[in-house]
Amino acid sequence: MAGPDGVILYLKGLTKTFAGHAAVDAIDLEIFEGELFTIVGPSGSGKTTLLRMLAGMEMPTSGDIILRGEKINAIPANRRPTCMVFQSLALFPHKEVGANIEFSLKIRGVDPATRKRRALELMEMLRLPESYYRRAVTQISGGERQRVALARALAFDPEILFFDEPLSALDYKLRKTLEKELKDIHRETKKTFVYITHSLEEAMVMSDRIGVMRSGKLVQIGSPQEIYSTPNSKFVSEFIGDVNVVPVTVTGDRKLTSAEVPGEFRAPPIADGMKDGYLVVRPEFLRFLSEPGDADNHVAGKLYNEYALGSRIQYHVRVGEMTFVLEKLRHEAFQGKLDQDVLIGWDAADSIVVPDR
Ligand code: ATP
Repeated sequence: MAGPDGVILYLKGLTKTFAGHAAVDAIDLEIFEGELFTIVGPSGSGKTTLLRMLAGMEMPTSGDIILRGEKINAIPANRRPTCMVFQSLALFPHKEVGANIEFSLKIRGVDPATRKRRALELMEMLRLPESYYRRAVTQISGGERQRVALARALAFDPEILFFDEPLSALDYKLRKTLEKELKDIHRETKKTFVYITHSLEEAMVMSDRIGVMRSGKLVQIGSPQEIYSTPNSKFVSEFIGDVNVVPVTVTGDRKLTSAEVPGEFRAPPIADGMKDGYLVVRPEFLRFLSEPGDADNHVAGKLYNEYALGSRIQYHVRVGEMTFVLEKLRHEAFQGKLDQDVLIGWDAADSIVVPDR
């Protein structure tokens, strides 16, 4: 049964310090029953330390971890109803697929027939052929190993699965496939998944909600769409792929100027009292204009280069010292020559202004 409002895991002022330095700094967070929550942040931001505390592999310095209303700070990993899936997947290489999946049941004293039934059930759910039961884990593909690791984690029916960058060691194509597969598996199992990654792109694909970490703190929590469309800081906006970030000064009445780009710009609604900040416009919202009046804002520049990104084409346009990034779908490609003068623009509603946090 879930706690109030479906909260399964509640973190209250959770902190871990190493030699006086807070690797995780007073985190408050609610994770809901059945959601796929991803913690994303650059290297050293404290993701692993946070996840290790949640999984019971690290004791908090202060604060509480509350699972379904019960404080579990001091309960060791093997006595928590949770399970960790590691980056390395940590499968036993000398054991067969079946034995790997059944491991957690075996150490809990479950009888062999029940273990096997459960392993085959999970293999079917995860689309692993029954014949793999006796196959060595060294003789299956990386994607299949990922599914075996998941089956092993799911075998004892944990309430929450923690994932420590399970895809980061894989090649790009496999990673892209498995991101979606993991989301499908989450849908099938209806378990709560807490996932960490340094790739916001990966987090976007999979997550119900994302928490962005920086220097031990959660600086923004929201749906992938919220994080993408309304980042609350320069840090979060720049964390997702290519983006245009222009330092601006608010000159009043929804107007902006910039020391780096000539002109005065119409701004979206801005937080009260903000004087200096950053204008953020995603590449797909910038357009090549025929006339200055074709968008709320326009800037003159030179087409510097273009890059084919599969279904999209990216353009770099130099405006003084700045490079603006535009992206168009292939069938909307801009027919221009390198170094040609171009006019680019965007509508105020397609931009946001964020503080430098
Ligand atoms: P990465 O993506 O590189 O794994 P991360 O976001 O997971 O990074 P952590 O590994 O949690 O970050 O580290 C956060 C901070 O805590 C870092 O400054 C790290 O050096 C420090 N740290 C982590 N574990 C220990 C430890 N056992 N002893 C001392 N310092 C530690």
